[in-house]
Order: sequence, then C-alpha cells, then structure tokens
Amino acid sequence: MSFSGSTLLAMVWGHPVSGLSSAMLLEAERTGARCSGVHPAGKCRLITNCIIYGPYGHPVARILKEFFCTWFDTLAELVTLKSHMYSDLRDVWLNTYTEMCVILEGEVDTCLFEFRRSKLDQHMKGILSNVLGMLLRLGWDPMHVDLWQNPSGEVYKFRAAKDNVAPLLYDIIDSYNNLQYPRAAQHYDGKGIQDGIEWSYTLTVMYSWRKSKDSWVASLLAALETLMAGAAWPQARVGDIFQDQPTICSLCGEYRADSLHEYWNCAHVNSIQDQNISRSNKLIPKANREAVEMPCYWLRG
Ligand SMILES: [Zn+2]
Repeated sequence: MSFSGSTLLAMVWGHPVSGLSSAMLLEAERTGARCSGVHPAGKCRLITNCIIYGPYGHPVARILKEFFCTWFDTLAELVTLKSHMYSDLRDVWLNTYTEMCVILEGEVDTCLFEFRRSKLDQHMKGILSNVLGMLLRLGWDPMHVDLWQNPSGEVYKFRAAKDNVAPLLYDIIDSYNNLQYPRAAQHYDGKGIQDGIEWSYTLTVMYSWRKSKDSWVASLLAALETLMAGAAWPQARVGDIFQDQPTICSLCGEYRADSLHEYWNCAHVNSIQDQNISRSNKLIPKANREAVEMPCYWLRG
C-alpha cells in the first residue's frame, strides 16, 4: 500500500488560494488509484481509493481536509489579530454567496459528479470564493460565513471559527464521497453502492488482515482488495468483452461463469472440503435472491 500523501500531485500545491478545478480532482483520484497497487484492469477508481487509503484518507479527501483547515486557520488568525474586520468579512461572504447563487441560476452545480467544468470556475479567485465555490459544488448551502447547511439539511453554526471542526471536515468529505457513489454503482457488480457504503463494517476484515505478517494472509488480502475494487474477472466478464474468449466455467462446465456462479453457485467450488466454503454454503439461496438488487454486497465483498 502506498502512503497516501505520495499520490498528491504538484499541480494541487497552493490550491487553497489558487482554487481546484474538477479536472484537478479527477486527476488526483486517478493518480491515487494508479498508485494503489490494485491491478488497473476493470477496477472502480473511487472504491479503490477508499479501500486502500480509507474513505477519509484518499487523495481528494486529503485535499479537502487541507483546503478547509487552511480556511479555518486563516479565519482564526483574522479573528485574533483583526477582529474589527470580521463584520466586513461577513458582508464580503454574503455578497459573494449571492453572486454565485445568481450565476448558478438556482440549479445545483453537478460538476463534481460528472467531473466537468463549473459555471463558478471563473469566479473563484482567492480563498474565500474558493471555499464558497467548493461548498456549493459539494451540495452545501453556505449562506453565511458562520452558518453552513449540509446537503441533508443539517446546519453548522460556528462561533468565530474556534469550534472543533473535525466533525464538519468528515461531513464535507462524506458529501464528496456521496456524490461519487452513483457513478461507482454503475461499475461491475456495483449496484447498491448508490445508497452509500457502511465503511466501518466493510473494511473490518481488510484492516485486520493488514496487521498480519503471514504471507498467505497477504495473498488473501490482495484477492479481497481486487474483488472489492471491482477488478476481478470472472470468465463471463472476459467473454462478454472479448468475443474469442469463452464464458463457460472451466471447473463445472456451466455455460455462463459470472461472479454469482463463481462465488456462490459453482458445484465444483461448493464441494471443496474447506471450512470457509462449507460453512457459507447455507447462504447460497439468500445470495441468489439478493444479488440481483444488491450485487455490491454479495459479489464485491
Ligand atoms: Zn462452475
């Protein structure tokens, strides 16, 4: 696993002041996924970054954390050293917010979902407008410098930026991840992800295996990461893309060896004398019923 900081690009240095375009965030995601060690063929970029670096530690999450921490540090300094300017700041914030809402014409800015240009790009000049623009792009309503509403309608009210902002930072990163889940759900066996991921449960096994020094556990870990990232290639996935390749199961002869067959229904695999297989065979009917609507749960680990 690469250290997540090593994937940050030189192009994002100084971003709190210069601003961040959707293209730069996209490139940060791509670079993170490339450095993850997960095989690139067929993997989901977002999920790869989340499982390797953590849902709050992937490259874009780090950029957002750094970005908003810089803002709150600047704000705290202003309040301490030049408190008389705070009312001016409130006015400038409100004016800029109003201008940006007019530019967006009452529509939600979806540029971070589609990684395209934003109507706000030309109007983000300096840290205040960058913070405002980023919040609007993340679906927040930052109506005042000290009063922000998240996409779920919950309101954060700060007292001169001296409060603990850690929960707010997590909420902001959640907003970014939530914007990406519908896209991740389009990926191989990704249906179900659009409603969000319970990361604490999802990553439990992976985190415990990472502590092991046994080489056989490292092999299992690599397989699990590949599966979760959507980079596994059941024979039917290969055959669907390459016309000269079969879709048949090489173990039992079933015509179509898709992920449901290989992980749950293959007669050859299910008869293997292994505790992990024999104990989970009772779940086969449930897997077949639920994998249609929730393949992310039954087929992606
Ligand atoms: Zn089979």
